Amino acid sequence: MAGKRVLVRCDFNVPIHNGRITDPTRIEATLETIRYILKEGGSPVLCSHLGRPKERSPEFSLKPVAEQLSAALGFKVPLAPDCIGDVTGRMVSALKPGEALLLENLRFHPEEEANDRDFAHELARGKDVYVNDAFGAAHRAHASTAGVAQLFSERAGGFLMMREIEALGFVVNSPPRPAIAILGGAKVSDKIGVIKHLLLKLDTFLIGGAMAYTFLKARGTPVGRSRVEEDKLELARELMEAAQKQGVNFVLPSDHVVAESPDKPETAAVVSEIPANMMGLDIGPRTAEDFIARLSGAKTVIWNGPLGLFENAAFAAGTLKVGEALAGCTGVKSIIGGGDTAAAVGHQPWSHGFTHISTGGGATLEYLEGRELPGLKALDC
Ligand code: AMP
Repeated sequence: MAGKRVLVRCDFNVPIHNGRITDPTRIEATLETIRYILKEGGSPVLCSHLGRPKERSPEFSLKPVAEQLSAALGFKVPLAPDCIGDVTGRMVSALKPGEALLLENLRFHPEEEANDRDFAHELARGKDVYVNDAFGAAHRAHASTAGVAQLFSERAGGFLMMREIEALGFVVNSPPRPAIAILGGAKVSDKIGVIKHLLLKLDTFLIGGAMAYTFLKARGTPVGRSRVEEDKLELARELMEAAQKQGVNFVLPSDHVVAESPDKPETAAVVSEIPANMMGLDIGPRTAEDFIARLSGAKTVIWNGPLGLFENAAFAAGTLKVGEALAGCTGVKSIIGGGDTAAAVGHQPWSHGFTHISTGGGATLEYLEGRELPGLKALDC
């Protein structure tokens, strides 16, 4: 790294409200890589996308990220006016060892998502080494994740990227048994690939969240007005049959927190059978206890998707109870999928008890589905 300019693809796609970063986890997660390059005498040139801008606009500027980085690293990290171009090129050339520069939002150029060759060449210009630490963007074949990597003979994954692959790879490659998946979230359709890929590798699936109601309905259990994917009922039946054939436990909730609708928490009640006018919005206390009992003795647990509509405190108890119990389990590798699951349990006082909290959303799911991630393939690792 010494004396080299290192293009580092980061995932600084952080939530920003009124110009302030509300959750800096993704920035903090990549500091190890940045500090390493600095310590080795290199100059990190950091790049990332932020949001889905249709055109260049201040709302999608990485300025708050530059400020956060400067505070975390203890020196000023300037923000270049663009990710390519002459002015930015001159700022890159002027970098001295131990200095860092942040490039402006990659998605201000549509060529980024189009994996445009010329744009990738522009991004690579003036840099000697490429490091990809953006696990959260590794499932996209974009110019900064795929195209640009091929232009460097020296390329590598960053420490965050490696930690993610190690943790998720642990789950998909012969995990120590008993191995359990906790799956929840809004839709069965998002998790089909994960269930199919992990069915042969795990012993137990604990199903909660809205997706449980599609499985319950497929089993003939009344689900009232709960969210159901009618077009996935047949597939749900097939998945449950496949699980049974493999001798895999496929556990659905036996009680529920229901309400007339998500915005009427005052109507919330715990029931074993869902009345016709109610919808299931969280797993019930008996189900939470059942899930927790099944976790004891597990050696591997992968969790993707909240077990209820956790954004509303009235429907968060199931997710939090199971989360706290899992965080307290000893002798288990507990891996929390990113996105909503990390939002639900990643910032609780007990969350340090998990082995790994993924920073990926879609990338985590695709990795668990056994799919090849273009950002990884481009690194040849
Ligand atoms: P996903 O992105 O698929 O992991 O889904 C996460 C979303 O599912 C969160 O916004 C949860 O509030 C929502 N969710 C979880 N359980 C339920 C439920 N029983 N009914 C409606 N939404 C739910």
